[in-house]
Amino acid sequence: MCGIFGIFNHEDASTITALSLHSLQHRGQEACGIVTHDKKNFYLEKRLGLVGDNFTKKEVIEKLPGSYAIGHNRYATTGETVLRNVQPFFADLSSGPISIAHNGNLTNGIFLRKKLVEKGSIFQTTSDTETIIQLIAVSKRTRFIDKLIDALFQIQGGFALAVMTNKKLIGVRDPYGIRPLVLGDLDGSPILTSETCTLDIIGAKFVREIENGEIVVITDEGIKSIKPFPKVNCRPDIFEYIYFSRPDSFLNGKNVYQCRKNFGIQLAKESKTKADIVTAIPDSGMPAAIGYAEESKIPFELGLIRNHYVGRTFIEPRQQVRQFGVKLKHNANKGCIKNKSLILIDDSIVRGTTCLKIIKMLKDAEVKEIHMKVASPPITHPDYYGVDTPKQNELLAVNKKSIEEMAKYIGVKTLSFLSVDGLYKSMGFKKRNDNLPQFADHCFTGDYPVIPIDKTLGESKHNQLSFLSNVNI
Ligand code: AMP
Repeated sequence: MCGIFGIFNHEDASTITALSLHSLQHRGQEACGIVTHDKKNFYLEKRLGLVGDNFTKKEVIEKLPGSYAIGHNRYATTGETVLRNVQPFFADLSSGPISIAHNGNLTNGIFLRKKLVEKGSIFQTTSDTETIIQLIAVSKRTRFIDKLIDALFQIQGGFALAVMTNKKLIGVRDPYGIRPLVLGDLDGSPILTSETCTLDIIGAKFVREIENGEIVVITDEGIKSIKPFPKVNCRPDIFEYIYFSRPDSFLNGKNVYQCRKNFGIQLAKESKTKADIVTAIPDSGMPAAIGYAEESKIPFELGLIRNHYVGRTFIEPRQQVRQFGVKLKHNANKGCIKNKSLILIDDSIVRGTTCLKIIKMLKDAEVKEIHMKVASPPITHPDYYGVDTPKQNELLAVNKKSIEEMAKYIGVKTLSFLSVDGLYKSMGFKKRNDNLPQFADHCFTGDYPVIPIDKTLGESKHNQLSFLSNVNI
């Protein structure tokens, strides 16, 4: 996950960066940071916690002068949640100062790190983003941009980067475009952001998406585009549409809300069930439930009420906290659901923790029966490109052998998932193109666009960390 932002030459750079990170808060809530520069010095403020709790204070913003800024919201997929891992990172290189904000995961980050450490590089963090800086630092090329390209040729995985030097703001999207990045414009100042919702919120214009494998270099002279990677087809992560992105964002020209609603419409076509009401696990299941209700002509009701003053349950990395979070977050709306048969919709099932708790809650509120419908296919494979999915054997669709077994475990009368082709249909395609898949959909299909090299060094981020401590970092 993670949200990134950059702005070039605007007098309110730090305030706009803070506002923008606030609009990207859903992409990561563990920590946030802003780096600015005023053509003389770089200024860096990093905090654990939410943007609204940290960057709304005048005294913090005043520590960030200058017209150039990048920012980052962190959701830890590699590295512990400690301040030294909070981005943006800053380093003084032979080519000059550089700051970097990264969304995504490198699939060969540990492999590269090991090689760098063996050659004498000293790492200060356990984040794979630092590997990119170290690769730039040791590049033999002369110009900064060539050093960056040199580093980018070595890294693999899903990445969107906002890089700031004392002269440039640079946006990078990985060869497959797995992670999103958008170019905008605020009063003539170029902007980079993970999602278009930022642009609406700060009153900026959408210019275009950064293309897969594209490097956009913003200087006082204008904007240049470089495409150094061998061309591959764009495969944005389907999970951006299913869960991560804000519904009001547009990704590759498609409105995320409309896609989610289409998933619900398609789900109703694929899986018809008689029931009194359609309800959603808020907020993630809402658009699909609205679509399901529209297609099935079964009324949509708010069968669950969400407390908006607690964070996303999943955003807390530890299982114990996550389980507790579910209770804090939702309550059954007994007056609406008692003695009714429900169609319960959520966007996805990962471990099954959320729906297990919710279903128990609904039963305690005396519903007649529950038919759970999931607006995406069963998740059978972990992610390695910046999405926090657990080890394969922790996925519900893996550790329960069949849909019936899954239904029994979570306690529902029936359980249905959207089909893979249904997912593609909802996105406007006839079906999945198995030769050139239109999206990174490895979580459902096991078809990984980039081979996860580090996987051979250790299956999960936990092993990655123990690997890191083995090399004394
Ligand atoms: P679980 O409780 O583990 O089954 O997680 C499923 C819930 O978490 C669903 O309600 C989703 O909205 C949300 N979710 C799905 N995938 C992810 C992810 N990779 N990161 C964070 N949350 C997710």
